[in-house]
Amino acid sequence: MTASVSAEFWRASVRRTGLHRCRSLVDAEERPVPAPSDLGDESVSPRRRVRPSGIMQWGKLMTIDCHIHAIPEAMLAWLRSNAARAGARFEQREPGKPPILIVGGRWPFELKPVFHDLDQFLAALDAAGIERALLSPVPQLFFYEAEPALAREAARAYNEALLGWQKRAPQRLDLLATVPLNDPSAAADELAWAMERGMRGAIVGPGTADRLLTDPVFEPFWRAADERKVILFLHPLLSRDPRLARPQLPNIIGVPWETTVAAADLIFGGVLDRYPNARMLLAHGGGYLPYQIGRFERAYAVWEAVRQQLAEPPLAYLRRFWYDTVLWRRETLEYLCAVVGPDRIVPGSDFPFDLSVWPPLGTREGSSTLFEE
Ligand SMILES: [Zn+2]
Repeated sequence: MTASVSAEFWRASVRRTGLHRCRSLVDAEERPVPAPSDLGDESVSPRRRVRPSGIMQWGKLMTIDCHIHAIPEAMLAWLRSNAARAGARFEQREPGKPPILIVGGRWPFELKPVFHDLDQFLAALDAAGIERALLSPVPQLFFYEAEPALAREAARAYNEALLGWQKRAPQRLDLLATVPLNDPSAAADELAWAMERGMRGAIVGPGTADRLLTDPVFEPFWRAADERKVILFLHPLLSRDPRLARPQLPNIIGVPWETTVAAADLIFGGVLDRYPNARMLLAHGGGYLPYQIGRFERAYAVWEAVRQQLAEPPLAYLRRFWYDTVLWRRETLEYLCAVVGPDRIVPGSDFPFDLSVWPPLGTREGSSTLFEE
């Protein structure tokens, strides 16, 4: 299917169904989005420079990336000096290349200098036309399975390191904290500590190894998040489904699956009803959740047991989340936009990880509502 056929197809289906018309994503003349041939096959068509989206907030028009990671040098220093107890290894696999960082024996990644060198990080933002970053810790360093004392210490070290970066570039950076979810009261305290210092919220995984976020042990954390109207960026870790044994499948399909499980559990577990003020941002376009909303709706229509768990129809819950745009394909973004609306979609890149969309795509509407006071 060509891009133009796809756009016409979508316009027709929006007319038919009354779904949101996402002009900025659907109409190429208004919002340049890379055609599929630009998304990987450089030999077919050189990659076009994609104009980043404009975001109206902080009093002026600016561009923002809401899904972007860093590990400031001060956090790396903490990791090096606590390498044994944190289970961290720095492997120099190829001479002249950055080391591979492995924490807890899983999810190795190349520690590119742009992860930890602020000057390089800001230069990358400049080159991409990004004025501001909503900066997150990396999930490899959540330490949810470590001793709670270590998780608390690591979270504080990481958050202080991020605040150190922000001091050097206050006009460019907003921050999300990491919290020791394996000690929920401490996680609530760390969130409060971070918010008092001007951070915007926290990045959290789908839960700890054996508990999803709706587990009653996390109530103190949810109360703290709700009271302060924080942004909670729900970011998956690798799936541990033992069937995903082939190379990278725990990432390729496992990562979006983890988001899907956690988000569906938040909907059915009533957390979104009990704590409506926490602003939940879902990574990677919400995983598979938006794509399966029809199945949720059908289950809601035919099964009383499903209706009993929900105060509103499934689509209303889908509209309570925000979604980033780490989806690559124009058709996928158009679908997401049609289902949840442009005011729920924020530009995100996942930079500097290998599977990033750089620079991020997106529209201004979503970021305006995510950051609304
Ligand atoms: Zn990410």
